[in-house]
Amino acid sequence: MFASKKFLILLITLLLTLTVGCTILFPKQVATNPHLAFGNPSNASKTDPNNYLIEKPQYVLSYNRDKGIPNWVSWELNQSWLGEAPRSNNFRPDDTLPEGWYHVAPNDYTKSGFDKGHMVPSADRSNNPENNAATFLMTNIIPQAPDNNQGYWARLEDYERTLANQGNELHIISGVYGEKGTIAQGKVSIPARIFKIIVVTPPNESVNSINEFTRIIAVDTPNINGNRDADWTEFLTSVDAIEKETGYDFLSHVNPSTQNIVESKIAQVTDLKLKSRTRKK
Ligand code: MN
Ligand code: MN
Repeated sequence: MFASKKFLILLITLLLTLTVGCTILFPKQVATNPHLAFGNPSNASKTDPNNYLIEKPQYVLSYNRDKGIPNWVSWELNQSWLGEAPRSNNFRPDDTLPEGWYHVAPNDYTKSGFDKGHMVPSADRSNNPENNAATFLMTNIIPQAPDNNQGYWARLEDYERTLANQGNELHIISGVYGEKGTIAQGKVSIPARIFKIIVVTPPNESVNSINEFTRIIAVDTPNINGNRDADWTEFLTSVDAIEKETGYDFLSHVNPSTQNIVESKIAQVTDLKLKSRTRKK
């Protein structure tokens, strides 16, 4: 009896040592792809055609076969992605989609009244021609109202690159929900809303360093014309609100208590002002 108790203690000690040792040697892998560092919001996989995971070196997305558009696209942005590569403008079908699926083509958008709207902007992938060309695959494109795309949406994208050029690391998820019609004889859905969630951290921070003070910018915009001059800050919202609308779980790799805090906040316009380092009087 005494001996078996001793053995039990020895066994427990051994197990504990192994557990602690393994945790130190092999920290939990929270992400295999840098573009999904904060999680896979809809648990996209290769099994659901309408929540179909596509991983590329330049970005990761969930594709919706029946809608002909992505549900969301996720990518990291920092200075290393930015350079002098020209805009390829080579819109083309994504050949990595399974055979037998409809492959949306650029001319599906012709005379639709909608722009071929990038989720990952062309200018976010300008470090080399190959990375830039990847943004012109039609799986990264949605029918976007010109005033949204060319107005406040474009100004928000500029703001993101300014933050990146200042040395910040951004993790961006852009996506859609709702439907206000279709183009291309029903093969491409026109989303009602276009949202974006941006996590801003200092360079090379891991998902574990996210805390209640981490800057998170969430916007939810209408896919309409007539408000081109709007300021993108008019569309600020919380991550919680977008989770409620979409049913997705954003930032799922962040510990739940921190998620609760940061996801309920709405960014304050005064906190978004760019801190110019070379301001002249
Ligand atoms: Mn655009
Ligand atoms: Mn969440």
